[in-house]
Amino acid sequence: MIFRVLGFLFFFLSLVASASQQFDIKSIDQFEQIFVELTTNYKSDEILVVMDIDNTLVTMDGELGSDQWWNWQEAMVLGSEGDDYKQRHGAVALSFDGLLSVQGFLYDVLPMHAPEPKTIELIRRLQDDGVMVIGLTSRGPEFKSPAFRELYKAGYNLLRTASPIEERDYLSMMPYNVRELQSKYGFTLRQIADYKLNKPRPAVYRDGVFFTSGQHKGALLKIWMQDRQLSPKVVIFMDDQVKNTNRVWEAFTAQYGGELFVPEVNTFRYGFLDKRVEAFNEISKQDVIQLWERVYRPVFEQQLNIMKRNLTDEVYNFEAAVDF
Ligand SMILES: [Mg+2]
Repeated sequence: MIFRVLGFLFFFLSLVASASQQFDIKSIDQFEQIFVELTTNYKSDEILVVMDIDNTLVTMDGELGSDQWWNWQEAMVLGSEGDDYKQRHGAVALSFDGLLSVQGFLYDVLPMHAPEPKTIELIRRLQDDGVMVIGLTSRGPEFKSPAFRELYKAGYNLLRTASPIEERDYLSMMPYNVRELQSKYGFTLRQIADYKLNKPRPAVYRDGVFFTSGQHKGALLKIWMQDRQLSPKVVIFMDDQVKNTNRVWEAFTAQYGGELFVPEVNTFRYGFLDKRVEAFNEISKQDVIQLWERVYRPVFEQQLNIMKRNLTDEVYNFEAAVDF
């Protein structure tokens, strides 16, 4: 009996000790303060820090091509209005794929910076202490290069303490096998439906950053950890979008049948850029529409034409080679 009471007591204490929480913060100073409090009882190698990229580690210098610009464009492109309406209101493309290729072009040509330079220092210090830090982005694998260029330019090196790349990272573009969602990863049928996991899209982990193509960040992070048999005692996740902090929260606090168990998860909704995003959402978009139309669209179309011409040449050369 005494053991049973002690057992209950221990269970209760462990619940108190590992109280997962969600935070809404406005600055990296706030993050650091809470982070220190949360992790005093953990060793460095018991902590996994996961950082969103866009509007968290780096942000576009201007509005064109930014997260807020993307959200505005995406809502328009996926909206039910006709093509005429979309064009009149500044849609840069009429299909989702068209929008993706414009976004890719803008990532290529536009510069970014860290919203708060202190974040670069903080991550460096965490890495110096041996804490594993990785990036988790909704960007697809096709946008890896400009992401790394801007991260390195800003002064981040997510390779330092990240989980190393494994063979499977090179062998598959798909983040998981649908048939293993229940057996290997422990998702329930309900979760598979809620998280829309039935049709995986390409996602790759390279050099400390997981590129997830807009898929459920909570589910994909769990899968990524399970594949590596990582079992930190606490996961700390920061993202500017509440949708993503909620998804990580849900996936990690849900009752799981899987082997992986993380005792504590803390999410941080990072609001440093909220005012800038709100301002963009409220203003007329004339400036950003004109900038696109006058400066960037001609270059984008020129590049498209060159690519099309090269493709035609390749077909031509291939036919010539076959002839020979
Ligand atoms: Mg973001």
